[in-house]
Amino acid sequence: MMLQKLKALLLNLNSASKEDTHIPPLFHSVVMHPRPDRIYDKLRGRFGFLNWWPGDTHFEIFVGAVLTQQTTWKNVEKAIANIKRAGRMDLDSISRMHLRNLEAMVKPSGYYRQKARRLHDICSIIKREYGSIDGLFKLGSAELRARLLSMKGIGEETADSIALYAAGKPTFVVDAYTRRIMHRIDHKISEKISYGDLKLMFESNLKPDLTLYKDFHAQFVELGKNICKKRDPLCGGCPLKSVCETGASRTGDIKWHGGV
Ligand code: SF4
Repeated sequence: MMLQKLKALLLNLNSASKEDTHIPPLFHSVVMHPRPDRIYDKLRGRFGFLNWWPGDTHFEIFVGAVLTQQTTWKNVEKAIANIKRAGRMDLDSISRMHLRNLEAMVKPSGYYRQKARRLHDICSIIKREYGSIDGLFKLGSAELRARLLSMKGIGEETADSIALYAAGKPTFVVDAYTRRIMHRIDHKISEKISYGDLKLMFESNLKPDLTLYKDFHAQFVELGKNICKKRDPLCGGCPLKSVCETGASRTGDIKWHGGV
């Protein structure tokens, strides 16, 4: 009888750990003030739903995510246009293309030799191991993230951007805007908080909803670029000023009470 109870207990623990791969139990109790859904509602109320990260195919979005490191999206668009104009925007073509040709095409995105080499090598690996980009994207969220991170030239932000926008996996993307805005909203959150910790703060307080995650990141980028600027944030016209510690001190808003 005792043995049966022990077996049942172990089975329960085992099934719970398999289902619960998205959020480590340690982070279930992290409570954010203000709640992230409240932040999102305020941003969406101002900017509307942002149809972000355009691309005609999953592969094009993937290429954009690899090329966008250390440059502006405008420059990436020029590189993407070059590849498309040449009719080479597919996994086979890029993995077989002569490096010199690929370098010329991605030149507008900067660091073109390094980026061409990396894009070429990553495409060759995907072609060899998975046959197609959608073959790679069949991996589960955690497995896909780990595989992308194991490829040279793909860091956490790029891996999550690919998983979210190209593969359609609900994984939260963190970038410099996210760090800056969250630190200004709540000074207890360090601007140097690790990528993983900030990501888990959001994921442990939000449902893993693909549309929400895609749009939330886009909203942060919109705010960070145009309002919560690095040097001189425009707090007076910010949709988050009523929940933001920095906004309250800069605008003298005495109604702010901790951003709950
Ligand atoms: S209120 Fe100011 S500091 Fe706070 S998020 Fe808005 S712009 Fe940034």
